[in-house]
Amino acid sequence: MTDIIIIGAGVLGCAIARELSFHQVSVTVLEKECDVAAATTGRNSAVVHAGFNNKTGSLMAKVCVEGNRMMEQLCRELDVPFKKTGKVLVAFDEEDIEILKRMIAQGEANGCEGLRLIPEEAVRELVPGVGGIGGMLSPNTGIIDPFRYCIALAENAAENGACFRFEEEVTAIRKKEEGFTVATCKGEYDCRVLINAAGLHADTVSAMAGVDAYHIYPCRGEYFILDKLADAMLPMPVYPAPKAGIGGLGVHLTPTVHGNILIGPSAEYIDEKENYDCTAEITDKLWREAVALMPALERKHIIGQYSGIRAKQAPASEGGYRDFVIREEPACPGLINLIGTESPGLTGSVPIARMVRDIAAVIIPLERKKEVNASHRFPPRFAELPEEEQERLIAEDPEYGEIICRCQRVTKREIRQAIENPLGARSLSAVKYRAWAMTGRCSGGYCLNRIADMLVREYGVAPAQITWRGSGSEMFSGEVK
Ligand SMILES: Cc1cc2nc3c(=O)[nH]c(=O)nc-3n(C[C@H](O)[C@H](O)[C@H](O)COP(=O)(O)OP(=O)(O)OC[C@H]3O[C@@H](n4cnc5c(N)ncnc54)[C@H](O)[C@@H]3O)c2cc1C
Repeated sequence: MTDIIIIGAGVLGCAIARELSFHQVSVTVLEKECDVAAATTGRNSAVVHAGFNNKTGSLMAKVCVEGNRMMEQLCRELDVPFKKTGKVLVAFDEEDIEILKRMIAQGEANGCEGLRLIPEEAVRELVPGVGGIGGMLSPNTGIIDPFRYCIALAENAAENGACFRFEEEVTAIRKKEEGFTVATCKGEYDCRVLINAAGLHADTVSAMAGVDAYHIYPCRGEYFILDKLADAMLPMPVYPAPKAGIGGLGVHLTPTVHGNILIGPSAEYIDEKENYDCTAEITDKLWREAVALMPALERKHIIGQYSGIRAKQAPASEGGYRDFVIREEPACPGLINLIGTESPGLTGSVPIARMVRDIAAVIIPLERKKEVNASHRFPPRFAELPEEEQERLIAEDPEYGEIICRCQRVTKREIRQAIENPLGARSLSAVKYRAWAMTGRCSGGYCLNRIADMLVREYGVAPAQITWRGSGSEMFSGEVK
């Protein structure tokens, strides 16, 4: 019997696991994919929002403002890249200026600080090359590495005793007199408290437990990834003034903490919850809108595409947002549901996790452990170290002297550390997001085979068992040289 089961190892499941792992309860996280951050958490804009965009009085506004305030310190504790870049919203006409004035009023009511209208020249000074007639500055917006953030939350939870089980899709839930039996594709688990953090599938999981009250409408957002141009072209995220009812924040330009630029996302309701296609029709439109925002962009800068899917409670006919639902279900005591966890779920992850912890504490006693380690450290990134430190590391371990990923200058030692990660995730994508290999201009053309070779020769993995993202994404078949 586990005290608490969490379904889903996205940023919310992992943040909740970490909060609960600070207490004297046993916590198991069941995740259907082969690693953390495999769904929406790894497929977003990676912006730490300030909280002006959310309706005053909503849970979204509350957790966003709180999450924004704590993120810098939290990322320091968890060794996660974060930059408080600020953000500009651009107005293209007088109607947009009025929208921005309303944004500022809403933001101030939500507790955001420093929001202000800025004239056209100030917009251009902050982000040269952007069009428009003026804008709004949000000084407290930031950017983060969402993979590292989620991995750090999970590893820190594991360091404090939480257990992660991957490739364990929850297929059925039986309510017992006290607690639940949760069936997965691999076995059955009993628990007293069940936390549903299944993101896009939270409605289905809730229905498995007998609460058939929700419907998630998947709304896809497609993106372009551009080369490392952010330092030269885009010091902070640039958004258009948000028009009402579009169900997203509009196509925006966002620098990443790694120096790339993201264009997107679009907002398109789709039928399937896991259709991550990028379509020519949408990406062409995306490109036109991005160039309207920043005319200096050129197609040759594009190095990749991806998409993420919003877990919307509002159907297409309604558009816009419905507030998060985070509660113990009155009709199913012991079940804590997180429904409709779209943006700003990344920003608000730790405030949400603390809220869930407090709900759980009413169901099950949560006594804080005497010894808790709330900080986390990753192995160093060789390419970011000063030269003397690099030389010292190479002298200590020659694997630091062997570059496996040329685009991002990732060494063999770092690949090994990624393969030997504490959560035991062994796919190529697990290595990618931990070592940041295979993320450069060649998208793994040079290093992917070298990493696969390490897995085969040094870790005894058969070529046919090497996957990109768990079973169903096998990389090799037949005889492999
Ligand atoms: C296009 C886009 C842009 C966004 N931009 C931002 C942004 O800039 N800033 C921000 O704050 N937020 C942003 N968000 C929102 C943010 O990404 C989400 O709020 C957050 O990632 C939600 O995390 P989660 O843990 O609820 O969901 P997920 O990350 O989807 O995790 C849910 C997990 O549950 C697992 N699961 C599902 N069903 C089962 C089952 N039956 N058994 C076991 N496991 C299961 C899934 O595999 C998945 O790993 C954006 C979202 C999108 C789509």
